[in-house]
Amino acid sequence: TDSSWQAASKVIEALEEQQFEAVIVGGAVRDFLLGKEANDVDVATSALPEETKAVFTKTFDVGIEHGTVLVVDFKEPVEVTTFRTDGDYTDHRRPDEVIFVRSLEEDLKRRDFTINAMAMRPNGDIIDLFNGRSDLVKRIIRAVGNAHERFSEDALRILRALRFSAQLDFRIEEKTQQAMYDSAAFLEKIARERMKIEFDKIFKSTYPSNAISAINDTPIATYLHGEFMELALWKKLQTAGNEIIGWTFWVYTTGNRQLLDDYRCSNEEKKQVAQALICMEILQQGDPSKMALFLYDESIWQVASACSNAVTPQQKPQLFENIRAQKKALPIQSRQELAISGRDLMAWTGKKGGPWLKEALESIIVNVVMGRLQNDEQQIKDWFKHEWNNQA
Ligand code: ATP
Ligand code: MG
Repeated sequence: TDSSWQAASKVIEALEEQQFEAVIVGGAVRDFLLGKEANDVDVATSALPEETKAVFTKTFDVGIEHGTVLVVDFKEPVEVTTFRTDGDYTDHRRPDEVIFVRSLEEDLKRRDFTINAMAMRPNGDIIDLFNGRSDLVKRIIRAVGNAHERFSEDALRILRALRFSAQLDFRIEEKTQQAMYDSAAFLEKIARERMKIEFDKIFKSTYPSNAISAINDTPIATYLHGEFMELALWKKLQTAGNEIIGWTFWVYTTGNRQLLDDYRCSNEEKKQVAQALICMEILQQGDPSKMALFLYDESIWQVASACSNAVTPQQKPQLFENIRAQKKALPIQSRQELAISGRDLMAWTGKKGGPWLKEALESIIVNVVMGRLQNDEQQIKDWFKHEWNNQA
């Protein structure tokens, strides 16, 4: 945002005043040139972490071993990272050591793709040593330097390339793509948690099928613990900025729920996927009942509608809108809206709580939701006395 850029500029000014070099780097420069809002505005500097800390009044060590200091002197926090090069990558995921350097050029060389390896000075000058700007215009993702070396150093970059192709609708340059396939086996070394973050971003993106098409029928698929189904289906999927849609679709199209554990999805995410799969089944049987609409949140219906639409031959663009309208039209949206509570039931009967109470409440809710009973205290009381006496 504007205030992140302003804060970054102030950080740079303060560092320059102390004779250090400082620039904006990475994604923020890329997004600025694309006319997009940046996710975060990062600063890189020739100052060592200790030197950066001495320039500002309030800082936090957020990744001191990588040379990152968080400066909170201004309206927005700014991550300031010392120019560095990476040592050898014997484990194919992390550098053995990071070496702080005073040269911006060295720092830009270690970055993954040409579009991510540009820097910008506060006056607007762009430092572009690898033709990142021209690749932005050509809409190409290209590794910086020797592609084979770059993916073998850190195989997470394979997923990052797929992620950027999905977010930006860019194609991956041929040599870069070949190197991704040749290095795919190194994905085994990468923590699933880190891979999940990239999948979340792919699933949330506008063009997830760009990533899928670069995975399907390639060596990458072998190392992802869950082959992707037909590309044609993924092309029909509208992810609408919601990663749960992608996870649900992946599980649905492969029948492999184990994926969610493999990628360390949270319990909440697993619950949402499970509910969305149930709602998909309901949708396949026709119009959902009022009770089904009541039981599952709108967000779950959104996921189920998007996935159903992609797998049924006849797409219904209005499916979710219709469901939402039907759900909104229910007499109550949640249990809290019921005109009576368990307390009332106990007062009317003079009985203590117990299994009967839950049962009675359930049957009142069903009847209210189905429209057989008005959500009105007196009406519910009359109905309850009548029904309950009959039952008891
Ligand atoms: P986003 O918009 O998602 O924040 P980003 O390009 O800023 O995308 P970050 O993960 O925030 O990506 O990383 C910031 C910068 O650090 C990148 O633009 C890139 O220059 C560099 N970078 C990040 N991860 C790697 C990596 N695994 N290998 C090499 N360079 C990387
Ligand atoms: Mg970023």
